Amino acid sequence: MTGTEAIATIFVPYGQGRGRGLDATELGVHGVELDRLVALGLPVVPGLTVPVSHATSLARPEVAQAAIDLLQQVVGRRFGDPAHPVLIRLLASAPVGGGVPADLPGLGITATSAPALDEMVSTSQAVYDVYAAAIRYVGEHAAGIPGDDFADAEYDVTSHAERAGKFLALSAAAGCPYPDDPAGQLAQAAQATLRRWASPRARRQRRGQGLPDDLRLALHVQAIRVGPPDRCGHGVAESRDPATGAFAPTGTFRRSIRRGTADSRPGEPLDNLPGGWDLLTSALRTLELHLRAAAQVEFEIRDAELALLAARKVERPAPRTAIRLAVDLAEAGIIDDVTAVGSITALDIETLLHPQLQLTGDEVEFARGLPAAAGAAVGRIALSSEQAVDWNEKSDPVILVAEETSPGDLPGMLAAKAIITVRGGLAAHAAVVARGLGRPAVCGATALRIDRAAGTVTSAGQSLAEGDLISVDGSSGTIYAGAVHVVPPRPGGDLEALLRRADQVRRLGVRTNADNGRDAALAIQYGAEGVGLCRTEHQFLGERLPLVRRYLLATDPAEEAAALVELAAAQKEDFLDLLAVTGNRPVTVRLLDAPLHEFLGESAHEVNPMLGLRGVRLALLRTELYPAQARALFSAWVDVAATGVEPQLEVMVPLVALAGELASAVQSIHRAAAEVEASTGVTVPYTVGTMVETPRAALIAGQLAQIAQFMSFGTNDLTQLTYGFSRDDVEAQLLTAYVERQLLPVSPFASLDPDGVGELLKTAVAAARRVNPAIKLGICGEHGGDPASIELCERLGLDYVSCSPSRVPGARLAAAHAFVAVSAQRAT
Ligand code: PEP
Ligand code: MG
Repeated sequence: MTGTEAIATIFVPYGQGRGRGLDATELGVHGVELDRLVALGLPVVPGLTVPVSHATSLARPEVAQAAIDLLQQVVGRRFGDPAHPVLIRLLASAPVGGGVPADLPGLGITATSAPALDEMVSTSQAVYDVYAAAIRYVGEHAAGIPGDDFADAEYDVTSHAERAGKFLALSAAAGCPYPDDPAGQLAQAAQATLRRWASPRARRQRRGQGLPDDLRLALHVQAIRVGPPDRCGHGVAESRDPATGAFAPTGTFRRSIRRGTADSRPGEPLDNLPGGWDLLTSALRTLELHLRAAAQVEFEIRDAELALLAARKVERPAPRTAIRLAVDLAEAGIIDDVTAVGSITALDIETLLHPQLQLTGDEVEFARGLPAAAGAAVGRIALSSEQAVDWNEKSDPVILVAEETSPGDLPGMLAAKAIITVRGGLAAHAAVVARGLGRPAVCGATALRIDRAAGTVTSAGQSLAEGDLISVDGSSGTIYAGAVHVVPPRPGGDLEALLRRADQVRRLGVRTNADNGRDAALAIQYGAEGVGLCRTEHQFLGERLPLVRRYLLATDPAEEAAALVELAAAQKEDFLDLLAVTGNRPVTVRLLDAPLHEFLGESAHEVNPMLGLRGVRLALLRTELYPAQARALFSAWVDVAATGVEPQLEVMVPLVALAGELASAVQSIHRAAAEVEASTGVTVPYTVGTMVETPRAALIAGQLAQIAQFMSFGTNDLTQLTYGFSRDDVEAQLLTAYVERQLLPVSPFASLDPDGVGELLKTAVAAARRVNPAIKLGICGEHGGDPASIELCERLGLDYVSCSPSRVPGARLAAAHAFVAVSAQRAT
């Protein structure tokens, strides 16, 4: 073996690393990546790796010469042939990803070859540009010539050729002439790269990135074919069109040679490629199937011959791309449903389902609050419900800004494109209603000061007037002054295709919280399997408010009975609508649970209305209330059943703390059913169940399970009562501070507290199932749409979760994730 042959054994041509038993420790990530491309049969640029343990030897000219000799063998022709010029590119990679020195594409140019080469390439002196860059890089980092000297030398030069000439002269004057032969240049470039990598600054940077500061480099040498601009160039491409997520190579292409510095020339679309399109397409397809991810490549092209310089998976692809890819790979049988579903996050789905603000960085942030309902909107500030309705009727988009909202604000909330409140949290009225309506909301924006008399809202010194434009991002809780562009949602058919796969994976049922036919219809379109919570009190808001007030304030039985008749009639209309939409699915109708202040305002006279005459308690004092509601429901069922659909009625009793409360309510419901049967001749099928939303109900779940056929955990109230945190008051200020001080990881109203509330659920589930193993158990608090809470529900073995319509798709996905995660935990 000659000396040169012995040297050559240290080089690893692309594609041969694995065969030699080498991995990224020696080959660097780039060497492994190129090995993989060769193994896949893809066309790669001719090149070789100088492994980590030999990298420093490339700084010796004879080793650099041997590398060039070997490359010439790989390319099959000698460098220096003016008809087929080749440049040398040096790059480096470490055994793990992270910032490596910039690559140097312009080696191999000499004073003699530069003019002809530049004429051939003929693009704004690109050859001299890369030539000058290489001279400077070597001069600065191998010879130690100060960067300022180069900056001075290029001051007022008028062309790249002149700059290259000045740099050559500077290097020579400094006693370190830039070599005029490819091997000498490559050796010095290798030395420059390794020195730069070993500098204190680079070590410090690595430490900052969490990488070992003594990390070593592999060097890679490539042969880049150059030629005239109509036949030659380089580019970058991704496998998927970001707008649609479909497989469609997208990217840019630049004629002429590659420059190491950021190339300011505009790229051309890939359609302009001088040949190579089919190869590029098939390479991207092969890569996708191999990586099981969207792929991106860097490539060069010469005379319709394409070669890949690098290829990797697209990190964090756009949600649309991720979903379409998962569906495509699953349909092709490359991945199974679990993998397809596992590659998508609930956030991806949220992004597709809601409008988003298109931020540019120039926006003026006005205030921040809690991200209470996802989505985005722009409109004029309205400081009252009436103003919101008025402007909306004039087709002016409005944002309702209020201290907080109550049922009386419903018309304004319906008119508004988004809702902002100063007070209240994720389970407050504004948040719950906004999510139900599918409107974005920011709650608990405590920095806001509303002055209705002056018609202004101020925040941290900025002041806006009623009528001014603001933009709301309910997904992040940010409010911007002025109008930010809103990108509309585009869910697309791929999302449903993916969610159908999630349905195959999940065990938990997914229902929706819907108070009317419109919400239920949307939720069913999103894949809800039924209604898990119809809050009947929401049917009495807006125009119906006087009715319920009349009933609640009635002082004599006759007046009360008359109000109840009207109330029941109005409610039957609503039930007809809801049941017709629900079809044969289950529908849980919760009897009235009205914290009195929501309906009566000041006249309610309760110090703690949320702990007062609510739910079943009111029904025990107003004994005709629940039977009247139940009759309205059952007779609506009879009418709907006559049209051929039979919803599975589940009648639910709220705020139970005593078994006796439940028993009494159940009795009155049965009485109503008997009355409807007597008057219509139809036996209405239904079950009766209870909400578990007081800690006591959870603790006596065994007793309740002897009476109830199903239970639904009302975790909004259960969280409120377990912590003693007012769900309307503490979130914005107190819980934000708690989270900041790490007393809590997250608001327990957003994500179920596994230790406290979760323990109550666990106790209740076990006790209820001991009494009745078949009892149906669900959750209808806001947590039913939260992925982490859904995982807890899976672990507890609940039967279903129920959430607002817009969260149904995310819940279907999260339920599938939860099943996979919990099964895996159980298996270990
Ligand atoms: C609950 O408390 O979790 C619940 C669903 O009821 P509401 O939010 O109506 O009090
Ligand atoms: Mg409740």
